[in-house]
Amino acid sequence: MLPKDITDKLLNATPQDVALVEKAYYFAEGAHKEHKRNSGEPYFVHLYETAKTLAELGMSATTVAAGLLHDSIEDAGVTPETIEKEFGKDILFIVDGVTKLGHVRYRGSDRHNESLRKLFVAMSKDIRVLIVKLADRLHNMRTLSYVPKEKQERIARETMEVYVPIAYRLGIRKLHRELEDLCFPFIDPEAHRETESLLKRKRKEMEESLEKFLRNLKKTLGTSGITQIKTDYRIKGLFSLYRKLRRKKEIENIYDILALRVVVPTVGDCYRALGAIHSTWRPLPGRIKDFIAFPKPNGYRAIHTTVFTGDRNIVEIQIKTEEMHRESEYGIASHLRYKAKIAGRTLPLPGLDWIKRLITPQPIQHGATKEDGVEDVPNWIRDLVDYQKHESDGEDEWGDQIKSDFFSHRIFVFTPEGDVIDLPIDSTPIDFAYAIHSEIGGHISGARINGKMISLGTTLHNGDIVEIVTKKNAKPSSKWLEYAKTASARRKIRSAIQENNNHYKK
Ligand code: MN
Repeated sequence: MLPKDITDKLLNATPQDVALVEKAYYFAEGAHKEHKRNSGEPYFVHLYETAKTLAELGMSATTVAAGLLHDSIEDAGVTPETIEKEFGKDILFIVDGVTKLGHVRYRGSDRHNESLRKLFVAMSKDIRVLIVKLADRLHNMRTLSYVPKEKQERIARETMEVYVPIAYRLGIRKLHRELEDLCFPFIDPEAHRETESLLKRKRKEMEESLEKFLRNLKKTLGTSGITQIKTDYRIKGLFSLYRKLRRKKEIENIYDILALRVVVPTVGDCYRALGAIHSTWRPLPGRIKDFIAFPKPNGYRAIHTTVFTGDRNIVEIQIKTEEMHRESEYGIASHLRYKAKIAGRTLPLPGLDWIKRLITPQPIQHGATKEDGVEDVPNWIRDLVDYQKHESDGEDEWGDQIKSDFFSHRIFVFTPEGDVIDLPIDSTPIDFAYAIHSEIGGHISGARINGKMISLGTTLHNGDIVEIVTKKNAKPSSKWLEYAKTASARRKIRSAIQENNNHYKK
C-alpha cells in the first residue's frame, strides 16, 4: 500500500493533485491508526480501496482525497473544522455529505425502497457525494463475509435495492455489475449456487468454440478494410444471468452469456463492421439492436447482433467505439471528466437540486417513525419525501423494479455552468431551453450539445451538456411544436405563435 497506487491512476494529474491525495493519504492513515476492520485488517485499507476505486472511475483529486477522508469525522473523531483547515471547504462538503448518508438505513420494508432511493439521492446534494458513497459501499460489499452473519443479509438487500439502481441509473456499469454480484450470494444463496454451476458449465463449452470464431472475425473485418480493431469478451454477471433465466427459463435461450466486444475507431466503422459480420455469418432475426441510433435510457450506446457461428454455436457481438466503451463502463463519471476538459477550466459540478423538484411533499402521518423504514432523518428531508404508500408487488420484482424507478423516465442534462436540468426521455434542446426560462425558450436560434452545433430536433441524452444560442429576433415556429416533448414548452410555443399571428393581423 502506497500513495502511488492511487495517484498513478489519477487522470491528467498535476503535481498539486498528487500532493493533495498524498496529504489525505497520510492524514487518514494517521487518524485511523488505532482502528481495525472486521476482517482484522487496519481500517485504513478500507479508505485506500475506496480512493483507488474513485481514481479508477476517473474522479478528480478532490473527490479521491475526500474518499480517503470519508470516515474520519464519523469513526476517527476528526472535527469538521480540522478537515476544512487542512483540506478546504470542498472536501469537507463531500466528507460531510457522505457522513450524513451513513445515517440512512434500509429497514427491509419493500414499500419504501423507492422513497429511500430518492431520499438518498436528495441527501447527496452533489453527485460526488453519491459516487464516493458508491465506492465506499463497493469495498464494504467486497468484505461483507467478515461482517457478523446476522447483519449480512440486511446490508446486501440494502445494497441491491438502493445502491445498485443508483449506480445503474448513473450508468456506472463497472460498479453496478460488481455490486449486484457481490449481493447475490447473501440474498439468495441457493439460487446463487445453481446459477454459478450453470454458468461454469456453459462457459467452458463456449470458450472453446470462441477462440476460432474470434480469429475468423478479425480476418473478415480486415478484408472489409476495418483493421484498427480491439476485441475481447465479457462473461455475463451471475446476477444478471439469474434475472434473465427467470424470464427466459432455459439457459439455451440466453445468447449473451458470453458476448464478444468489437471496438472500432468511428461510428461509421461500427456500421461497416455490422455489414461485414452479417454478410459472413447469419444473424438471428430480431436480435439486431442499434443502441447507437437509439441509446438506452441510461445512455448506453453500441450495436448488438447475435449470429450463428457455424459450429452450432450462437454468439452475441457488441460493436462500439472506444468512447462508447468508456462511457458504458464509467457512465456519469466519464461525463464529469469530459465536462471539465471541454471547458478548459474547472466548472462547478452539478448539484442535485432536481431531485427536490421531483419529490412531492406529502403530509407526514403522526407517529410515523420506525415502520416507515427511515430513522434518524432530519425533518426537512422527511418533508421532501413522498410517503405515499403503494402496494408491494412482492419479492418477485426485485431486479425488475429498476424499470419502475422514476429515474427511468427522466434524463439529466447539464447547462454549461453545471446545473442539472431534468427532462422526460426524448426531450430536445427546445424543451431544455424552456425548462431554463421562457425568455430563453422564446428566442432560440441554435444549440450545442457537448460543444457541437446540432439541429433543434436532436434528442438529448443523459449527461449531455447543452448550450442554447439565443437571438433577440428569433421566435418560435410551428416546426418547434414537432420537436418539443414537454407540455409546458408546447404550451408556450403555441401561445407565442398565436400572438405573432394576431400581431400580423392587426
Ligand atoms: Mn466507509
